[in-house]
Amino acid sequence: MAGGEESDPSPEAAESPDPPGGSGTENRENLSAVQPAPGKEPSSESGSDTGPAHDSQSALDSADSEIQETAEEREKREQKEKQALEEEKSEEQLSNFMKKITLEKSLRSQVFERKGNDLITSRLSHPRDMHYVTSQCFTSRVKVSYRYENGRRVEVGRRVVMHNGVDLRGRPGTPIYSIADGQVVLARSMHFEGNFTIIDHGLGIFSGYMHQSNLRVQVGQYVRAGERIGDVGNTGYSTGPHLHLSLWIRGVPVDPISLYSLPIRD
Ligand SMILES: [Zn+2]
Repeated sequence: MAGGEESDPSPEAAESPDPPGGSGTENRENLSAVQPAPGKEPSSESGSDTGPAHDSQSALDSADSEIQETAEEREKREQKEKQALEEEKSEEQLSNFMKKITLEKSLRSQVFERKGNDLITSRLSHPRDMHYVTSQCFTSRVKVSYRYENGRRVEVGRRVVMHNGVDLRGRPGTPIYSIADGQVVLARSMHFEGNFTIIDHGLGIFSGYMHQSNLRVQVGQYVRAGERIGDVGNTGYSTGPHLHLSLWIRGVPVDPISLYSLPIRD
């Protein structure tokens, strides 16, 4: 590009302002070398119209205009790359999220495959010091999914889901107790369940404790009925601090309150 044409610059051209890419007054003595040929308007492509560029300074000026040109292109390219990267990233995030959900689902179902020791005894415990049921077991809920279009909420579908457990109101940090003797078979953070503990009581009976603020037991640990296993919280898909207590027999949900009569306030 530099020195591509052999045309001599005109005096008028020499008096015109610095061409794009020129570096200011300190390079004025070299203007003639980088000015456009007669009859041509200075433009960002002036590099191709420069006169002979024999000295190093004019070569530098031409190189400058070349850098300027590629900087614009680079900006566009980088913008495109950034966009592609973001799309890739959100796809990756979605795929990672789906992997996470699939893993958590399989962890849950693996738990119910267990044939643990018979640990359950007649000595049962309440999961909380105080019971106030905010949502009964097996009540159906309508879940509505939305999508946002130009800041407006658009319904995309609704489905009926069963509430497979009982919600017990509780202040965050208040104790949660194991409802029976058993072995901890799951104690981890999950997307929907939040901090989630499952206890295997044997005979295919499992109890589950969701949305805890704090897990106080580890997988493999044996617990007694009434032993503190965690704290009430609002983790996972939860709209307020509460304990969601589930009971399963070989993975089939049953009403935890059916196990024994809980003293229910209200
Ligand atoms: Zn619940």
